[in-house]
Amino acid sequence: MKANVIGLTLLLFVLSACETRPAPIESSLADALDTITEEKLSAHLTYLADDSLEGREAGQPGYGLAATYVTEQYAEMGLEPGGSDGWYQQVPLATYLLDPDSPTMIVHRDGIDTALKYKEQFAMSGDQVRGEDLVRAEVVYVGFGVHAPDVGYSDYDGVDVEGKIVALFDNAPSTLPGDSRAHYSSRRVKAQEAVSRGAIGSIALRSKRSVESYPWDRVRQTAGKKPGMAWVDLSGAASGYFPEILGSVYLSVDAATQMMAGTPMSFAGARAATESDTPASVPLGIEVTLARKTTHERIESPNVIGVVRGTDPELTDEYVIFSAHLDHTGIGEPVEGSTDKINNGAYDNAMGIALMLEAARAIAAAPPRRSVMFIGLTAEEKGLLGSDYFAHYPTVPSASIVANVNLDMPLFLFPVAELVGFGAEHSSLQAPMSAAAAAEGFVLAPDPMPEENFFVRSDQYSFVKQGIPSSYLDVTLRSSDPEIDGAALVKDHLKNHYHKPSDDLSRPVDWDSAVRFARANARIGFAIANDDDRPTWNEGDFFGEMFAPED
Ligand SMILES: [Zn+2]
Repeated sequence: MKANVIGLTLLLFVLSACETRPAPIESSLADALDTITEEKLSAHLTYLADDSLEGREAGQPGYGLAATYVTEQYAEMGLEPGGSDGWYQQVPLATYLLDPDSPTMIVHRDGIDTALKYKEQFAMSGDQVRGEDLVRAEVVYVGFGVHAPDVGYSDYDGVDVEGKIVALFDNAPSTLPGDSRAHYSSRRVKAQEAVSRGAIGSIALRSKRSVESYPWDRVRQTAGKKPGMAWVDLSGAASGYFPEILGSVYLSVDAATQMMAGTPMSFAGARAATESDTPASVPLGIEVTLARKTTHERIESPNVIGVVRGTDPELTDEYVIFSAHLDHTGIGEPVEGSTDKINNGAYDNAMGIALMLEAARAIAAAPPRRSVMFIGLTAEEKGLLGSDYFAHYPTVPSASIVANVNLDMPLFLFPVAELVGFGAEHSSLQAPMSAAAAAEGFVLAPDPMPEENFFVRSDQYSFVKQGIPSSYLDVTLRSSDPEIDGAALVKDHLKNHYHKPSDDLSRPVDWDSAVRFARANARIGFAIANDDDRPTWNEGDFFGEMFAPED
């Protein structure tokens, strides 16, 4: 562990003492930070969240306008293009759209076949590659579907899922330590586990938490409306694709209750077992048929990349990466009583891009020793695709990337008291992030909601999986005004505005908090990029050991 309080003081020294650089439009750290203003942040937000950008969906014209805007900003700030094609790294994407007449689910029990109703009782997405799927197999209930031998937990002990369809809940047992709980909660990790044991299909069951956070009405409303997406690798294969899985379905609570009634495990019994973290896996003694047809298209959508060149010849080939997703969910469904269909994504994530752009402006005004790369990411809303593609095919050598700081939907609904660096506690990033927060009048608080696993749920995790120390900078629920219930305002935003047309320019913004957040974010960049040492994972850290074991 190193003390980056020293780093910040050193930085001022380095900025004034370094003579190896040519002397361009260089200013002091304070002057650089002072370039960040409400007017500039608000101008980005106003452009990016405008109706004319139609919700910036990856692959759509509105995203193209947003991408062009970001390149113009980079150019004006004096950044170098950092893509594989100028400012752009085109991400090849495969779309897959379910044929709306095709989704089929039939439960076979004691010689009786019961067909369930698509959208009313179940939802599914298309297959990433195949045009047509049909599978009939026995169903095995597997709890959370977690196999975590490192912590002595397994939902697969004593059950055989070879050639079977697994039925499982989301998340992972609360008895797992936070880091491994986050890791084992990942759908991809669960799918990998199931497939390695020979499973050929999956049925997702709804926990109380998923019922509360995403009512079935919204599942029904959005099911089948938009194509899913995967990125395509150099050999043409879709990312994260498990060809072994011939069908997957998402069941409403009613349908799950009906399907599991009279089997060795009722739905209510299964849910109670997961709530008490008890593995209770058991073959259900029923068979299910799943079928679907899917149509596919190939498109591309760019990550938008600019670089502030580092001034130290020894360190200029190392990169600190700032990222924020530039895409949103495009044109969607109006809420009742409104005709507005455009998901403007003002907070999600035009705000993150605005903050990142102003960090770029400040850092370009006083270039640090290492290079700093800024990426407006595509297709986050389609499953972190732009970041995952970049992390697999970085435009600079992977080993030269020293850290990632990501921004995703910071909410300034009230005067903010605290920042949080999700995942910062896993690496030496904690120190510069704490110092930067403090310098702007914030406290860097510990993760207030570890059970939400935010660290593994946004774009920084694509970098973590490549072994790069990373963090996701955000605000907590606490207001500096004791009269304001920050948690209530955030809850209201998530329930009534998140991923809806009303996440638009009418949402309130506490600009004083936003400006100080932007300054803190830029300070983090200065501190990491000027430090003598590159960031490291903490000794014995779960993510460090998992993804960067040679360190
Ligand atoms: Zn979103």
